[in-house]
Amino acid sequence: MVDGKVCNSVTSNKNTQVCYICKAGPKQMNDLLTIKQRPINTYTYSFGLSTLHAYIRFFECLLHISYRLEIKHWQIRGEQNKAKMALKKQEVIDQFRRKMGLLVDMPKQGFGNTNDGNTARRFFENTALSSEITGIDERLIKRFSNILCALSCGYALNEDAFDSYAMETASLYVQLYGWYFMPTSVHKILVHGASVMRSLLLPIGQLSEDVQEARHKEVRWYREHSTMKMSRKCTNTDLIHILLISSDPLISSIRPLPVKKPTKLGTEVYSLLKIPEESICITKRTQFSQDTDSDSEINSD
Ligand SMILES: [Zn+2]
Repeated sequence: MVDGKVCNSVTSNKNTQVCYICKAGPKQMNDLLTIKQRPINTYTYSFGLSTLHAYIRFFECLLHISYRLEIKHWQIRGEQNKAKMALKKQEVIDQFRRKMGLLVDMPKQGFGNTNDGNTARRFFENTALSSEITGIDERLIKRFSNILCALSCGYALNEDAFDSYAMETASLYVQLYGWYFMPTSVHKILVHGASVMRSLLLPIGQLSEDVQEARHKEVRWYREHSTMKMSRKCTNTDLIHILLISSDPLISSIRPLPVKKPTKLGTEVYSLLKIPEESICITKRTQFSQDTDSDSEINSD
């Protein structure tokens, strides 16, 4: 999968506030009755859902709502409102730093800001504290967290269960914060998520773009230490060579796999999963082996 920015440029969607799948603009986003009836460009389903960036986008959506909680308006107009929002923003940022040790919404030197996947994941891990800091309804944070967890867990999801859970979440969002037009990235997952998943061969979590993203760090290191710097062409050629070598299937197969802690899934996330056939096979197999074990015991006796 790729980032939303890439999807927008591939589909020549100039306005990033417009959904590239159904072409809904900000004003149509919160109208859940008509949003599902819009004509859809099914070709765009192949771009997936950008599950890694979804964490950041969902987090930023809630953050922006929390800055506007007093004004209750999508666009900030007038000096007074702007000052109010700036004050609230600073307060939220300070609290994140004090209570969670998180640097939020601060520009980073060189590129982007400090809202990365790790910040977002920490935010969704402790929903009670996040709700206390931002003033956002905890039910919504919890639901967002469950959706993101289900998307990135790597297991096959039950599309119908996901669709109804996502639409219920969208209704809760509109009911609570209808004045803030749903961002395209949130809309894409809640409204089109299930349809995109149906069109893919693998479970959505296994197509995550964090593999490419994890390469950024290595690309920077390789460029600095393993390339000629005579010209850009030389640098890029060397860089591509080393990337090809290090991602070669044979070399990849030799490298030990990183040990990952299994993520704990909550009961609500479990209810969104397809009952995996393998687990049924495993239970059957263990039952069978237990049976044969007891048989062998009898025999040996
Ligand atoms: Zn859409």
